[in-house]
Amino acid sequence: MTFLGAPLAMAACEEQNVQQRFPEGEIVGQSVQLGHILRESRTFEVPADKWTNVKIAIVGGGVAGLSAAWKLSKSGVTDFVVLELEKEAGGTSRSGEGTPAGHPWGAHYLPVPFRENAELISLLDEMELTEGRRADGDLVVKEQYLCREPEERVFYKGRWYDGLYLHVGESDDEKRQFAEFQKKINVWVNWRDARGRRAFVVPSALASDDAEVTALDKISFGDWLRQNGLTSERLIWYCDYACRDDYGLKLEQTSAWAGLFYFSSRIRKSGDESQPFITFPEGNGRFVRHLAAGAKDRILRSHVVVSIVPNEKGVEVVCLAGGELRGFRAEEVIYASPIFTAPYVIRGFRDDAPFAASEFQHNAWFVANLFLKDRPKPRFARDFPLAWDNVIYESPSLGYVNATHQKGIDYGPSVFTYYYPMCHEEGGRTKLFNYEWRDLADVCLTDLSRAHPEIYDITERIDIMRWGHAMISPRPGFIWGGERQKAMKPYRNIHFAHTDLSGIALFEEAFHHGLRAATEIRGR
Ligand SMILES: Cc1cc2nc3c(=O)[nH]c(=O)nc-3n(C[C@H](O)[C@H](O)[C@H](O)COP(=O)(O)OP(=O)(O)OC[C@H]3O[C@@H](n4cnc5c(N)ncnc54)[C@H](O)[C@@H]3O)c2cc1C
Repeated sequence: MTFLGAPLAMAACEEQNVQQRFPEGEIVGQSVQLGHILRESRTFEVPADKWTNVKIAIVGGGVAGLSAAWKLSKSGVTDFVVLELEKEAGGTSRSGEGTPAGHPWGAHYLPVPFRENAELISLLDEMELTEGRRADGDLVVKEQYLCREPEERVFYKGRWYDGLYLHVGESDDEKRQFAEFQKKINVWVNWRDARGRRAFVVPSALASDDAEVTALDKISFGDWLRQNGLTSERLIWYCDYACRDDYGLKLEQTSAWAGLFYFSSRIRKSGDESQPFITFPEGNGRFVRHLAAGAKDRILRSHVVVSIVPNEKGVEVVCLAGGELRGFRAEEVIYASPIFTAPYVIRGFRDDAPFAASEFQHNAWFVANLFLKDRPKPRFARDFPLAWDNVIYESPSLGYVNATHQKGIDYGPSVFTYYYPMCHEEGGRTKLFNYEWRDLADVCLTDLSRAHPEIYDITERIDIMRWGHAMISPRPGFIWGGERQKAMKPYRNIHFAHTDLSGIALFEEAFHHGLRAATEIRGR
């Protein structure tokens, strides 16, 4: 599969023999300065009057760091700072504001947690998203926050169809294989180990470590499907889509454990629907705003942590802020930045490495927000209507999410958030940063024009975020390979907390590790 770039865009224009109007826009967000600074291995001398004493320094203001801050504040600890390199907190759950709607730059939904996930439920209660419990104890989320119908549709050979799995034109054998796949998922949904733990559950820390389950991590999801005689093209597409969507990886690059986790961790028992999605126009940016509001002026933005030096008294944390060096003498550090960065930032880590940080590998994505003056019109009377999530079958992208979906009005201005994992590309990250805004905008518009020929005319602006290290990759052997488990233990006075530690990038996992690290410190 080749990158859908300028050549394809040009071909499309030539075919139509028209000069397409091209919208305005820019590359936004992600600072690339950190990588350069850290690779230079500089030493940093902080002036004597630029040191501050603090009990806890939290490095990284993504969901994990903000959740740690939330937990500390709730337990009465306020002597902490959150040091965030970007101008905005939130990491990969950041969002944009403004007209016609807020819009995500990464994470855009949270499935309703099972009743056992008490701390996450307490966050949802605090945000007033809930309206009670059912008789069985299950959470009731206010209807306006649950993704409304139609939730998903897929574009295939010129038409939109309901759902993500393509049923139209299915042969008997394909139907049988799909039913067989669901049967196998149900087995894993109902599976319990000797201690009563599920095979797959969120947060994954509560999942079973029984050998029957962990063996699934040794093979790819593609191998698992083949070993089970599941070879139907549309089923393979469906599973490949799931891996690209949740992990930014292709089917063959994804651990079977992670593939089965995707399909079975959010179903309570066989026969039940998967947990419904909580979503907002700005996606998980809503959670970020709430978590950040609790920590207020203790979040120091544009503070790049360049060095962490553990010593007998605690930990010295050095930041670059507005071109100046600042230091924090902390008793403890919560390291809520991507785990692979630890050897570059933590002094002495390499001499006495507590785990192999290079095992924590990330993939690259780009996300485009298209600001539309109107929504695309259906092309056929019987086309399935605009949904929240809109996927193009014959595309390496994941399609787009509609920010105004919850309003229930299907006309007028909106923002479409388009997702493109670079997993089809050799050297995807390097390529991503070699492309200019116009190349990436071209990829997006060319792709969407298959389903919406008027996309060039209705898009007023298209802004693009390049995520060089978007998500941890749950490739075969990583989840149960041992390094993740080692990294969950503190190193000197440094407690790691990042979604990377779960091997899967999810809000709930980041939240769990933030709370775990905060609790670890409280318990010392
Ligand atoms: C495109 C995309 C779509 C996604 N969609 C969903 C979704 O719909 N639902 C879902 O649950 N999850 C989704 N995710 C995953 C979700 O965003 C993450 O799991 C979660 O937000 C991770 O939070 P975190 O705090 O662990 O990490 P990060 O988001 O990586 O945050 C780490 C923070 O540390 C900061 N930092 C790094 N180095 C330094 C330094 N040296 N000094 C100071 N600060 C530093 C970074 O700037 C960042 O703010 C998506 C992710 C991406 C990329």
